[in-house]
Amino acid sequence: MMSYQKEEQYSNKVTDQLIDDYQNILGGLGEDLARDGLKKTPERAAKAMQFLTQGYNQNPEEILRSAMFRENYSEMVIVKDIELYSLCEHHILPFFGKAHVAYIPNGYIVGLSKIPRVIDVFARRLQVQERLTDQILHCIQDTLNPLGVAIVIEAQHMCMMMRGVQKQNSLTTTSAFTGEFRRVETRNEFLTLIGSKLH
Ligand SMILES: [Zn+2]
Repeated sequence: MMSYQKEEQYSNKVTDQLIDDYQNILGGLGEDLARDGLKKTPERAAKAMQFLTQGYNQNPEEILRSAMFRENYSEMVIVKDIELYSLCEHHILPFFGKAHVAYIPNGYIVGLSKIPRVIDVFARRLQVQERLTDQILHCIQDTLNPLGVAIVIEAQHMCMMMRGVQKQNSLTTTSAFTGEFRRVETRNEFLTLIGSKLH
């Protein structure tokens, strides 16, 4: 019934190609590919990169549909402090932080563990934080058809922290809202409950 795979899957063809590519990158950086610590690095990096971008092959709508239940509950449902790890598409460096998601059911609720899974599917692609926020919002809105969806993502970007401006503690916050959450009172209730300083 569920059409997504949880286990790690690698394509031999892609892995072989990436091993070649990583050898070139390491060589280009002046590294000695023969030294002990680097012998298996191209293969490890090839597999790590496939794992970190596996979201392209997964269907987030299917994940939600696999655990939707009819229910008349119509209060705000919040899942907060969801760990998030992604890769910025400009530098292929990690950005990571927390996501907070809420929705107001409209006849259906979804198994709570599915929301972090949906976040992973979109996070395991090359991303910008703004688009990641938007994709999660619309996936939940379009699949569950609730009265509204709210999402806040707070993340730190390694491309800012390790290079460039080197602002070690800067946090980038993005948010998006549909339906009921466009009303100030509803949105403020959500922001208060997640303890965000956005409002
Ligand atoms: Zn970046």
